[in-house]
Amino acid sequence: MTPRPLNRVAVVGAGAAGAFFALELSRLRPGTAIDLYDRDERSPGAGIVMSWEFAERVRAVHPRAFALPPEAMATWDRTLTLVGEDRVWSGAYGMFGLTRRVFRDHVRALACEPPTVTFHARDVTADPGGHDLLVVADGANSRLRAARDHGTVTTHGRTVFLWMSTPALLEPTFVLKCVGAGVLIVHAYPHGAAESTFIVEADPDTLRSRGLLDRPLHEVETILAGVFRDELDGAPLTARTSGWRPFSTVVNERWHHGRAVLVGDAAHTVHFSIGSGTALAIDDAFCLARSLAACDSADDALAEYARARAPVAAEAQAEARDSQRWFETLSRRDRLCGAQTVFALRSRRDANTFARLGARDPEFVARAMETYAGRPTRAEPVDVPLTVGDLRLRTRMVGAGLERDAPVLLFPAATGDRPCAVTRDVPASPVPPCVLVTPDGTADPRALRAAGASAVGLLMSGDEPVADTPARGFDFVAVPAETGTGRIARTGLADRVRHESDLPVLLLSAERMSRDEVNTLLLAGRVDMVACVDARDLARGAAPGDGSRILEDAAVRIGPEE
Ligand SMILES: Cc1cc2nc3c(=O)[nH]c(=O)nc-3n(C[C@H](O)[C@H](O)[C@H](O)COP(=O)(O)OP(=O)(O)OC[C@H]3O[C@@H](n4cnc5c(N)ncnc54)[C@H](O)[C@@H]3O)c2cc1C
Repeated sequence: MTPRPLNRVAVVGAGAAGAFFALELSRLRPGTAIDLYDRDERSPGAGIVMSWEFAERVRAVHPRAFALPPEAMATWDRTLTLVGEDRVWSGAYGMFGLTRRVFRDHVRALACEPPTVTFHARDVTADPGGHDLLVVADGANSRLRAARDHGTVTTHGRTVFLWMSTPALLEPTFVLKCVGAGVLIVHAYPHGAAESTFIVEADPDTLRSRGLLDRPLHEVETILAGVFRDELDGAPLTARTSGWRPFSTVVNERWHHGRAVLVGDAAHTVHFSIGSGTALAIDDAFCLARSLAACDSADDALAEYARARAPVAAEAQAEARDSQRWFETLSRRDRLCGAQTVFALRSRRDANTFARLGARDPEFVARAMETYAGRPTRAEPVDVPLTVGDLRLRTRMVGAGLERDAPVLLFPAATGDRPCAVTRDVPASPVPPCVLVTPDGTADPRALRAAGASAVGLLMSGDEPVADTPARGFDFVAVPAETGTGRIARTGLADRVRHESDLPVLLLSAERMSRDEVNTLLLAGRVDMVACVDARDLARGAAPGDGSRILEDAAVRIGPEE
């Protein structure tokens, strides 16, 4: 097969992806003619956030990429979270905000400087034709993408959001405001010297209960400006999108099809709460241009581009899904825990562990620890004592092991480890100090307590209703970690059970977990104890009568108590 030439390229969409692609390709292949199309409407949205680190990387290649007027930018390295009456500062990692419209105009102007680039202000709804390559950069709702079979799947979030701006210089702030039926969440940050972005996100039911869902936009702006009068210091709000809408996550199975290739939001979207969509779009653009410059054939270049970028996008989308899910869950909560909720917010992103956040901002983590422990403490979360039934645990790391194929849990009570028998029915006498009843078990927790057990837990599989668990007399619930790459995905069920049952939750993780990760989950309030054991092994080992055998084995393993 003869390699396709690359004399003329069409780029549809001159947002970050299209403009940076044109810029980079004209740098690397100055002989290629580029037609850059955009319908040139007013860019929706107010401001966007980026990291200094990313900007430095782009500047190394295109020094003027972020040379915006100072009034269109703002920088910061810490964020404020307003939770009820609490104001909690926490250290961040070198971020800046940009006025989206100014940035778009700036990069578009840069992209059009090379003589080989021709800009066409046109609404493009079909392949313009006459080009060797069609770069589809027309955003999340791409019409050109829809014309081909890219295996596109679009899913919508459970919350809705409104992207607004305000003529006020706000601190970079999350506002978490309980309004009875749920939480109104604000993602706010300055994107200029005198203007800030103000995104309000909420569950549709919460908005409906406040009469905010189906109102004309100008009324919504006025009502929200009233709800957030203190946070806005009386400044007004102006919507930059056409109304409340859910965030749409776009995934494509095939990034290129014939002569057409997807970049930026047309290829993938990531929830705005991780502030990475523009950086991903720019990196796509660079990767595609560099592949085209390096490969002899356009087909090889497209394959190489997709091979390099698809895993990066998938990883970012997994992280974004976790973050989105965290905010969606929060939006339906009826209570918040001050600095501890702020720690949970920050640690929804996997990189932000207890140790990392503590190193970045010890004061903030100490404040979260004070809420968690109920008093100032230098202890790590794992070493904050916990009462489960009549057991007082000295640490929240529950031991686990196998003895002659039978699984054993060891509760670290203040007076020594207490073996926990896993059982379906009431175990043979003597009743072990601690009992975990399997999901299909018939053992009555109250009878077990009356017979001498200090703590009785329920092993959950996840399918059963959890709301009546305390009423059934259990002292704790053991919940398996779920599959998934992120912290939020793995502990989604544990978090839900903990919230709904109001009981201490023991997370059963089939995989090893670092102490730092355990500390992070505990302080974020997602679990109360952790054991590294496969929940299926526990359930399997609980054949009738096994309780006492496990107990004997455990006693042998840990030796007699002092
Ligand atoms: C509420 C919200 C907040 C966000 N905040 C951030 C943030 O803080 N940081 C961040 O990095 N990202 C953020 N993003 C994501 C970011 O906006 C996108 O990821 C980024 O704009 C993608 O760039 P793009 O060039 O692929 O698409 P777009 O920016 O959407 O550009 C597409 C271009 O195509 C043009 N176009 C569309 N259709 C046609 C057509 N038919 N004919 C001709 N031209 C057409 C449009 O006019 C537009 O210029 C946010 C997104 C949302 C929704």
